[in-house]
Amino acid sequence: MIRERKSNGKRHERPASTNTCRMCAPLGAVLAWRGIDGTLPLVHGGQGCSTYLRRFAIGHFREPLDVACSNVSERAAIFGGGEVIAPALFNAISQYQPQLVAICTTCVVETIGDDVPMLIRQARERLSEQGIEPLPEIICCSTPSYGMTHVRGWWGAVTSIVEALTESNSTSGLPAEDAPLALFAPLASPADWRGLLATAADCDVSITLVPDGTESLDGGPGSGIATLPRGGTPLQSIRALGSHASWLQLGGGDRAKAYPGPALREHHQVAGSVLPLPVGVAATDAWVDALIRQGGGHLGAITRATRGRVLDLLADCHKTVKGARLAIQGDGELGPALVRFAHEIGAVPAVLACDERLSHGERDALAELGCTVVDDADYQAFREAVASAECQMVVGSSRSYPTCRALSIPLIRVGFPVADRVGSASIRHLGYDGAYDLVMRIANTLIEEQQRLSVGYMVY
Ligand code: SF4
Repeated sequence: MIRERKSNGKRHERPASTNTCRMCAPLGAVLAWRGIDGTLPLVHGGQGCSTYLRRFAIGHFREPLDVACSNVSERAAIFGGGEVIAPALFNAISQYQPQLVAICTTCVVETIGDDVPMLIRQARERLSEQGIEPLPEIICCSTPSYGMTHVRGWWGAVTSIVEALTESNSTSGLPAEDAPLALFAPLASPADWRGLLATAADCDVSITLVPDGTESLDGGPGSGIATLPRGGTPLQSIRALGSHASWLQLGGGDRAKAYPGPALREHHQVAGSVLPLPVGVAATDAWVDALIRQGGGHLGAITRATRGRVLDLLADCHKTVKGARLAIQGDGELGPALVRFAHEIGAVPAVLACDERLSHGERDALAELGCTVVDDADYQAFREAVASAECQMVVGSSRSYPTCRALSIPLIRVGFPVADRVGSASIRHLGYDGAYDLVMRIANTLIEEQQRLSVGYMVY
């Protein structure tokens, strides 16, 4: 029985979920590890799971994405995955020569209770006996999809790297003053990550972006065939995080050890702060302030000018955007951030369909902005909520397209996945640039709808 909790206090019960908004946790882990240089992700589970996540990742980023798989069969599902881990590691290491093999788990191995760290130790011994040396670093992250979304898988993967690889007295040779700020980036687009780097450079703050998928998830044609993608945060920079002066984490939570920033604080006593996603002007102001304060920089001229252009655009289109009824579909971080952004620009964030269960405090805060929250949602519940709230458009992933088509309203494609358009890697959500693009797309779509539905005077 699916129990939908809505922010208006009503409960709604249905016998089953219909096309859930939730996506697979290993998917987020694989995308995060793709942003670490020389890393090969390995899915410990069935072939179908690795195919599922490749399908979504490649559909969105349109890049080749190799993911190793332990190919858990019926036999391994009954007797445990010990007998498949060592051959999977042997094949992965001999074919790709990675610096790091990062293993995430699937529902079946979580359900049978495989002790993956122990299996890795046993596999290392077997591989050493076979003369496979030197072995790369091998880490693992538990990613049961029935308890996590792809965004939690992302943060779990980044946290596993911090816990396994960082050193307090790094021998990487990078002095702390050269990389004073560790920036833990959220799952966003490569254009967003490039924007974070550009803002830091403009504000004269040296950062280590973790993970860094700017090139490995959005590369151009290189010379020759590379088994692993170019780019990503170097492993020596990860090791040096333990001696960094401070950290910033954009998104995620603040629970000790469950997220990379708090884990760095726990293991190496490096201080830092967790900020919400910098979506919109107010949230970006908070991120730029923290960047300058913690990184010892100053407000850059480009950043200041970009902020001014966003404010100018808001003034230009306030008559169009004000009061527009938006439905938002997104993960547990981007969804609430977009609700606050819609409220900030004067629109009405009438509905939020979120892929995970939000806290009571978060739901109450969003309800105060006039938003009906359908958390742990599926697309049937989302469609019903959008129809009854008489929303004018949906801001969400391409998985919302059938909803929009059925209700004859437009879709502004954001987040993950956007698989039915090209150029998803260039969609901007974060920072002043992201705010500019989002406002412009919403305003232009509203004007387009006015023109489409007009029977008399037309704006042209
Ligand atoms: S079984 Fe679990 S891990 Fe595999 S694709 Fe489905 S949700 Fe993902």
